[in-house]
Amino acid sequence: MKRLIFMGPPGAGKGTQADIVKDKFHIPQISTGEILREAVKNSTAMGLEAKKFMDAGDLVPDVVVIGIIRDRLAEADCAKGFILDGFPRTVEQAGALDKILKEMHMELDAVVNLAVPDAELVGRLLKRAEKEGRADDNEETIKNRLSNYNSKTYPLIDYYKKEGILKEVNGVGSMDDITKEIMGILG
Ligand code: ADP
Repeated sequence: MKRLIFMGPPGAGKGTQADIVKDKFHIPQISTGEILREAVKNSTAMGLEAKKFMDAGDLVPDVVVIGIIRDRLAEADCAKGFILDGFPRTVEQAGALDKILKEMHMELDAVVNLAVPDAELVGRLLKRAEKEGRADDNEETIKNRLSNYNSKTYPLIDYYKKEGILKEVNGVGSMDDITKEIMGILG
């Protein structure tokens, strides 16, 4: 059983690695960023609310993303495991996730943290902006996302270290080598 979280700053490559690892384990990848971007694209009520936060590089309110995760984890394909990509991002979200999983009689197996220095991240995100044209990949928004990561998400490293399930991975290097390291850790 693989119930996993992939964590790391914006641009660390957690989405890319989660996408590869989910195929190897045949489990769904649940990306709150993707789900939110889809809602924005479809102009749903949730999308309209989330858009202003996303465009500014701010976190979408906890209540919104916790609702997304609660609904998604209840779907049948999550029974065999899952990778959460981009959630939780605040200590409140982590607490809510613990509660949801407890209600479902599930436990997390591992939290993979991809560490990449800030200086490298800005370059990566600007390059991604050129390639994918994501609305939130501009210099000002990137700075805000990194600062939000450092103040709100970084403390989760300690949270999961205390739970004894944190796995630290160096996110600088070739994509293949990083996948190998993650697979080695997860077994
Ligand atoms: P990145 O990791 O590059 O920031 P994501 O696709 O994970 O990209 O997230 C894009 C945006 O979606 C975030 O800047 C934020 O506004 C919103 N978002 C995604 N996940 C969460 C979350 N767990 N909590 C709050 N906001 C979120």
